Amino acid sequence: MELNRRLLGISVILFMAIAFISLFAKGEWAENDSKAVVKVEEKELSQYPGLNLETKTKEGDLFTSSISTPITKSDSLNDQINAWIQNQQDEFMKDVKKNEAIIKKGKRAHLNITIDTAKVNDHIYSFTLESYQYTGGANGKSEVQPFTINLETEKVLTLQQVVKDNTEKKIASLAKKEIVADNNLIMYVFEDILDEALKDTRKWKWSLNQEGFTLHFDEYEIAAGAAGQVNIEIPIDKMAPYLNEEILDGLKEKTADELPEEVTPDIVELDPDKKVVALTFDDGPHPKVTPEILSTLDKFDAKATFFMLGNQAEYYPSVAKEVAQQGHEIGNHTTSHMELTNLQKEEIKKEIDTSNQLIKRATGQSPSVFRPPYGAYNDDVKEYIKEINTPLVLWSVDSLDWQSRDANEVNKKVKEEIVSGSIILLHDIHPSTAEALPELLESLEREGYQFITVSQLLSLQGKQGVGPHYGKIK
Ligand code: ZN
Repeated sequence: MELNRRLLGISVILFMAIAFISLFAKGEWAENDSKAVVKVEEKELSQYPGLNLETKTKEGDLFTSSISTPITKSDSLNDQINAWIQNQQDEFMKDVKKNEAIIKKGKRAHLNITIDTAKVNDHIYSFTLESYQYTGGANGKSEVQPFTINLETEKVLTLQQVVKDNTEKKIASLAKKEIVADNNLIMYVFEDILDEALKDTRKWKWSLNQEGFTLHFDEYEIAAGAAGQVNIEIPIDKMAPYLNEEILDGLKEKTADELPEEVTPDIVELDPDKKVVALTFDDGPHPKVTPEILSTLDKFDAKATFFMLGNQAEYYPSVAKEVAQQGHEIGNHTTSHMELTNLQKEEIKKEIDTSNQLIKRATGQSPSVFRPPYGAYNDDVKEYIKEINTPLVLWSVDSLDWQSRDANEVNKKVKEEIVSGSIILLHDIHPSTAEALPELLESLEREGYQFITVSQLLSLQGKQGVGPHYGKIK
């Protein structure tokens, strides 16, 4: 808590300084202040110093989207990353328009862009962006784009910059060996096309991590559709002789993987004559907004439930851990905010399981409740959460903070709809939500509300089983 306040204090001072300089440099507030805050915070709190992650979601009648964007301090790197993301968005929107009639009759379209990040050393990161697009029909399509970036030179690294001279052919033959040895995969692969692809090293899509060097091929690129996307991983011990020293030294360094101490959410001692409400915060942790929300909750001795994204928890483990340490309840909101109703059973399982692991690694706590993105679930989702015995929690009051982005509107909306026993939907990624909270808690406290976790609320209401649970409606 103390550290948190200090960080917040430092950030506020730095933020003011940067905002002040920006004001003079460009003569405008609005554009610059959000940028400045991200730049200050990422240094302090990201698991990958110099690299930040922002997950933005959209929801409409025709489609939903969730896009995780890595952000560096380099405009040139950001531009290259954003160009790929923009291209995916454009393609998606084109297909949505084309298939509008089909989508209206069937399932909503969905665009999901997610990230898998590895640290090579303190200024080189290798990450893979994966886009999944569903625009009607039986299956979605995916595409990957890896980037290995050097934050010091502000450049995307080429293959020649990470391997020793003239070793590409040897790496290609290692890759071929790996794929031939994979009995489940090789039967789908068109070998002549694979050989051609392996020859053209400039077109390789590759990434690196402590486990190995991976070549990425899109669906249908070298194999039949049944194989899906093909990743050929050359294990690091086989790859080591061909990597240049700087890269290899970085990858060899083991990162300590200590699990934080396990804590259980606080049970608030209740006055039975007073009212209760469960505040819930989705889509975080966020390096700036979540700490602000924690600090306000602390002032009111309020407990809440945070439905975290696995990806965000991986990037900001110290923020995620702080949420748990302060006695709040931790919920799972999937790894990358997928619309689960578009997915096959196995993919649903993976979105939920990976997120559970990432959140546990960050907080020391296994999420005790689950909330599907966009509130969208089907029998497959229900069946799986029953299997892992985690209640499915929706909400009775939508603050619409994601839509209004306005503190007064959030307060107005919640006060209009709240009753004792409500579950309130909020998001700890919008600064306006953090701004709304002090006034919200103060007025609700005046009205006799006590702020408790979702699980405490459900147990008070005698709600059992995996649900779905909504909370009381006015
Ligand atoms: Zn969400």
